[in-house]
Amino acid sequence: MEENPRCKKCKRVLKSPISIARGMGPKCAGVSATRGKSVRARITRSSGIAYQSASLDQLQTPLFPGDLPTKRLSKKELYRRRREERRRSFEMRVPFQCGMLLPKRKPLVYTPLDDGSWKENPTGRVISHERLQEYLRQYRFI
Ligand SMILES: [Zn+2]
Repeated sequence: MEENPRCKKCKRVLKSPISIARGMGPKCAGVSATRGKSVRARITRSSGIAYQSASLDQLQTPLFPGDLPTKRLSKKELYRRRREERRRSFEMRVPFQCGMLLPKRKPLVYTPLDDGSWKENPTGRVISHERLQEYLRQYRFI
């Protein structure tokens, strides 16, 4: 009897090979059922991490190569929107800016006149609606 291995905690004789290997009885070791659960939980957690890293890869893959094209696209989109806005302003005959044409990056501003033409600011030049449209289209401002 004395040769039997005993539990480190409660000093009871250990019977099962698992308990002997562990040096503790199932109760002192924290119950086999709980142990099974914790193992299952660990698997779930690790598979969760695996899934997370996988989805992270999926996110990173389009993020890195997509970074520059996205910036280029948004700039293009911004330009397109400005053009559209300018065209709308021109058609609706409300004052609008026309790019950066003057020295010192001063924008040209066109204000509509009652006779149907446009006044160019700050030059004060008067341009007919048709002429301005032609000009804006030529330089792809609208
Ligand atoms: Zn024990």
